[in-house]
Amino acid sequence: MSRIFNFNAGPAALPLEVLEEVQAELLDFNNTGMSILEISHRSPAFEKVLEETKQDIKDLLNLPDDYGIFFMGGGGSLQFSCVPCNFLKEGMTAAYADTGSFSDKAFEEAEKVGRAVKVFSSKDRGYDRVPRPEEVKLPENCAYLHITGNNTIEGTEYFAYPETGDVPLIADMSSEILSRPFPVEKFSLIYSGAQKNIGPAGVVLIIAKKDYVAGRDKKLPVMMNYETILNKDSLYNTPPVFAIYIVGKVAKWLKKQGGLAAMEAVNRKKAALLYALLDKYPEFYKGRAEKASRSIMNVTFNLPSKELEAKFVEEGKQRGLGGLKGHRSVGGIRASIYNAMPLAGCEALAQFMEEFYQKNK
Ligand code: PLP
Repeated sequence: MSRIFNFNAGPAALPLEVLEEVQAELLDFNNTGMSILEISHRSPAFEKVLEETKQDIKDLLNLPDDYGIFFMGGGGSLQFSCVPCNFLKEGMTAAYADTGSFSDKAFEEAEKVGRAVKVFSSKDRGYDRVPRPEEVKLPENCAYLHITGNNTIEGTEYFAYPETGDVPLIADMSSEILSRPFPVEKFSLIYSGAQKNIGPAGVVLIIAKKDYVAGRDKKLPVMMNYETILNKDSLYNTPPVFAIYIVGKVAKWLKKQGGLAAMEAVNRKKAALLYALLDKYPEFYKGRAEKASRSIMNVTFNLPSKELEAKFVEEGKQRGLGGLKGHRSVGGIRASIYNAMPLAGCEALAQFMEEFYQKNK
């Protein structure tokens, strides 16, 4: 078996131990004589998986009891529509901080549902930063403020969140959830597509204040109604069983690593190794993000020419460093270094960056 260091942005690397466990029990899950792919979502075996997964995530986040956890399908993108459909009432305005192409997409979906405004945008600067908390001013009758916690394509991340007072704060944390501790009680609802830090594509983890999702409009399409999915414990219909099972395994793996504070320490160390090269050779490795907004999940930069960028990606691949090409919309280089990327992967990439600079400067 030969596995590369996988720097893909998503679907992204999963911990090897998790994949090995899944492989070992794929044909017979927990002595059921069936694969997890074959068992009923209403069977005791899956109920246990679901319960433990929720509990482990609660433990990791130190989640207060007034929050619920549930899973939905449809990927992160369906949430762009679910949020305004659930919470943007007539006469109110939804506020969006526009910090990257996914926040822009979320904003566009809100505009289809009701009145939405951008209260911050770094679009004209190539999305090089997120706002400082005091920069965000909310409109009258504000339904909620939506932020994108980590901007996967652009490589920027919030480390301090806007103060919204009584206005609910909603976050898309698809690309940083469970990578570090954060003040969860500031948020009314958080959604995260799983395929970066916590599992396979398709499933979305939702963490929500129970009383915030209560009392939804009964005319909402049922599969978009947060209250229904929470009250039915993610079992209104057949949930993505296999994906939830893997999220559960990742949550257990995170606990074994020491939890979110331990993950943050190693994630910061990994990011620092790469940003050190950007700071050492700023004319060669041109960082896309302002320093204060630098993501510890996606490190983005350009080289002096497109040819050098292509060479970097190709030579990286030959050394077992895969998936370094930037998103097709922005080009350049992107190293995605989520939880499952070991420190050794970033050490190998940092060494490659040093050598590549010396040969091509
Ligand atoms: N939000 C963020 C921050 C993302 O990075 C992505 C995907 O990469 C999405 C939303 C969209 O998720 P999906 O492709 O699961 O719809």
